[in-house]
Amino acid sequence: ATGIFALSLASCASDGEATGGGDAAAGGTECNVGISMPTRSLERWINDGEQLKALLEEADCTVDLQYADNKTDQQISQIQNQVAGGSKILVVAAVDGQVLAPVLAEAKKQDATVIAYDRLINGTPDVDYYATFDNYKVGQLQGQFLETQLDLANATGPISIEPFAGSPDDNNAKFFFSGAWDVLLPYVESGVLVVPSGQSPASNDDWASIGIQAWASDKAQSEMDNRLSSFYTGGDKVDVVLSPNDSLAIGIIASLKSAGYAPGTDYPLITGQDADKANVKAILDGEQSMTVWKDTRTLGEQVFTMIEEIVAGDEVTVNDTETYDNGEKVVPSFLLDPEVVVKDDVQTKLVDSGFIKASDVGL
Ligand code: BGC
Repeated sequence: ATGIFALSLASCASDGEATGGGDAAAGGTECNVGISMPTRSLERWINDGEQLKALLEEADCTVDLQYADNKTDQQISQIQNQVAGGSKILVVAAVDGQVLAPVLAEAKKQDATVIAYDRLINGTPDVDYYATFDNYKVGQLQGQFLETQLDLANATGPISIEPFAGSPDDNNAKFFFSGAWDVLLPYVESGVLVVPSGQSPASNDDWASIGIQAWASDKAQSEMDNRLSSFYTGGDKVDVVLSPNDSLAIGIIASLKSAGYAPGTDYPLITGQDADKANVKAILDGEQSMTVWKDTRTLGEQVFTMIEEIVAGDEVTVNDTETYDNGEKVVPSFLLDPEVVVKDDVQTKLVDSGFIKASDVGL
């Protein structure tokens, strides 16, 4: 049996308990899946979790979906419970990519297969696969968008920019920042771009100094408040804000608004990522310039395919075996393609594909 058929067979035969027979004997495993997502506070993770759960349940898998409230300890105990409860495949979007090694070692003792979801898990040999979007490319698309919009190659400047980076405990954050900074840093070095706050990493390795803990909108807002009130006085305006994702962009936009910025007059370019509804609305309203859209439905489908292959005992399909070194191994990965969405793309890319409803964003 292969594919979806194997999935149904395995879980029907076992009725949620490991049998050791059938597909398992052929090298496959029971389709009993623990999904561990970081937080319900961000729309994308709710969609990610619900969608994967639905795909798996349609295939008669047993599924336990948990959200960790962005708390490391909670995520660890949720994973422990899943393993104790019989999960044979774990799908984990880590709150903190550095701390899961011990719990994954326990999971391995129970023969679980571990898929890192969207975010890599570091410092452990016990992560089997990684499925994500090309995280470096996410940042690169943000950097290239700004480069094109500002025609940096021909500009003399100085153009003021305030860079932000994601949560220091999220392995993705460095990739996002590096992708963008590889495009923008040369312009900072030549003086075309200036960073009045001084929050300008001298190299990609220094990104965490401007990281916003837990990707929190309110923390980004207060950081932006500080930068605006301390470094933009006497009528100076910020021209560009490099925001790695939509949750930070929401805080940055709120800060700009309270400092008196309004779309249409000296309003900065602001980047983002995720195509969250609130941000798509902000794009339509001229408050955010773009978002890097990651169609998380395709990520869910890819992970579902991985699980089908694992259950069937087939080789798992990956397309990158070089990039994601977690300190213990290079984790075989499947990377999906992110894409830029601006105002004019909202209908054609996001609404027509069913990613969001027109009514959700007031279209
Ligand atoms: C994800 C982003 C998300 C961020 C905050 C990252 O790991 O890749 O899509 O915006 O976490 O949740």
